[in-house]
Amino acid sequence: MPVFREHGGHSGCERIMEIIQIKNNTLEEIAAALSAAESILFFPHHSMDGDTLGSSVALCRALRTKGKLSFVIIEDEIPDMISFLDCDCCTDSLKIVDKPDLCVCVDCGELSRLNRRRELFESGRTKMCIDHHISTTPFLEWNYIDPAAAATAEIAYEIITILGLEIDKDISEAIYTGIVTDTGLFQYSNTTKKTHLITAGLYDCGLNSSETAIKIYQSVSREKMILEANIISTIELFAEGKVAIAYMTQEMLNNSGAKPDDTDGVVERLRGIKGVEIAALVRERRDGRIKVSLRSKQYANVAAFSEPRGGGGHIRAAGYTADSTVDEVKTSLAVELEGLLKRSSVSDAGYKAADEC
Ligand code: 5GP
Ligand code: MN
Repeated sequence: MPVFREHGGHSGCERIMEIIQIKNNTLEEIAAALSAAESILFFPHHSMDGDTLGSSVALCRALRTKGKLSFVIIEDEIPDMISFLDCDCCTDSLKIVDKPDLCVCVDCGELSRLNRRRELFESGRTKMCIDHHISTTPFLEWNYIDPAAAATAEIAYEIITILGLEIDKDISEAIYTGIVTDTGLFQYSNTTKKTHLITAGLYDCGLNSSETAIKIYQSVSREKMILEANIISTIELFAEGKVAIAYMTQEMLNNSGAKPDDTDGVVERLRGIKGVEIAALVRERRDGRIKVSLRSKQYANVAAFSEPRGGGGHIRAAGYTADSTVDEVKTSLAVELEGLLKRSSVSDAGYKAADEC
C-alpha cells in the first residue's frame, strides 16, 4: 500500500505542503538505481542473522564485479555461525566512503536498527530499502519490500540476475545461507516453490550445500551448547501446553562463557515442542533492557503482538525490546500470550505470506 508523507513546507503567505508518494519500486527500477550508483554501502540490521548478512554480502560482491566501490557496514562482531560470509566485504569503519552515492538497508525496515551507523546511512546521496518483513512499509527514495519472499536473499538473487552479474561460489553460499537460515532449512511455511527454484539455480554457480550447512549448523561451540541447555532448562509451559516461555539472564550468559548471539536458534527449539503454538525467549541484555523473541507454529500472529510493543517482524517470527525485568516480562507474557492465543483462530493457519524470519 502506498505511504504518503508530508514533506517539508514552503515559506511565504501561502504554505503549500508537498505530498510525496513513497511506494514500492519494481525490481528493474531497483536494479537500475544500483547500476547508476558508483559507490554503494549495504547496511545489515544489528544482531546480524544469516539473511541480513548473506543478502548484503551477495549484493556487495556481485556489484564489485561491475566495478562498483562497495562495502557492507557492520558494527557488531559477526556471529560465529555466519562469520565465513565476510569475503572481505565487511567493515566497521564509518569513514570508508565519503558521501556514498547509495546506502541500502538490507532485511531491515527501520533506521533505528542501524544504531551508530545511522549517520553514515543518512549521509548517502540516495537511500534504498530491500526487505521482506511484513511490518516494513516503503519509507525511502527506493524501496523493494516483498513479504512473500521467504528471505531477503531471494530478492538479492533476483536483483543480481536482472543485472546480469555472475554468481560465483561465495555469492551462491551467501544467498543459500540467507535462505536456509530464514526458512529453518526449508521447514517453515514461508518456503515456496520459488525458494527451491532459486536454491536449485545456486548449484550451477558452485554451491556445495552440505559444506555450507556444516559451517552454519555443525560448527557450534561447547559454550553455546551449554548456554542453550541452561536456557532450555528454564522452560515453563502455559495455556495447556500451547505457550512455552524460557529466559536468559546476564549471569547465565557470563557463567557459560558463550557470546550474546549464541542464543540464536533456541526459541525455535522451544517452538519444536509438540503442542506448543507460541514460544517466547526472554533475554536480559547487557544494558539491562529485555529482548523478547517470539515464534509461532501455525496460526498465532506474533508480528501483530510485537508491533504495538515497539517491535516487529514476521507473522511467525517477531520480537521487541522492553524496559523491565526478566521476571516482570515473563509474568506478563504468560497472561498476554494466552490472550493472543485466544484471539487467534486456527483458520489463520492458511495465511501464506513470508511469515518466518
Ligand atoms: P529474533 O527473535 O530472531 O531477534 O527476530 C525475529 C524476527 O523479528 C526477525 O525477522 C527480526 O528482524 C524481527 N525483530 C526482532 N526484534 C525486532 C524489533 O525490535 N523490531 C523489529 N522491527 N523487528 C524485530
Ligand atoms: Mn530475513
